Amino acid sequence: MDDNKNEKVVHTRVSKELYDKISSKAKKHRISTSNLLRNLVEDYLEIHGEVWDAIDKKLRSYIDSGEDSIVGYQSITLNKDVHCSLCGKPLKKGSQAFIGFFEKSTQKIIVCANCKDKEKVVEE
Ligand SMILES: [Zn+2]
Repeated sequence: MDDNKNEKVVHTRVSKELYDKISSKAKKHRISTSNLLRNLVEDYLEIHGEVWDAIDKKLRSYIDSGEDSIVGYQSITLNKDVHCSLCGKPLKKGSQAFIGFFEKSTQKIIVCANCKDKEKVVEE
């Protein structure tokens, strides 16, 4: 893998605190910090990618099935970074998002402006 020309190098700036955490974890596992980081990123993308896909699909099919519908939206200012429940788009802390309230279930979802507008258009 070392002489693979398709590999790219990622540089990133981290705090001293984070660096210390990473390097002590790496030492503990007797691997290089770059191996540790590569493993973490790979795991993160794999696990979270699937989780997001699953949630996305479930909500989509729930809404598309007509079993329930969103009765309204409330505009909120995000207090943390989240992902849109419908399209998975990252939504930054401090930005505007919308809580969707379902008609039948108590479930609430956080959606971006695009998804809110998209759902509104679907009227029969
Ligand atoms: Zn969205």
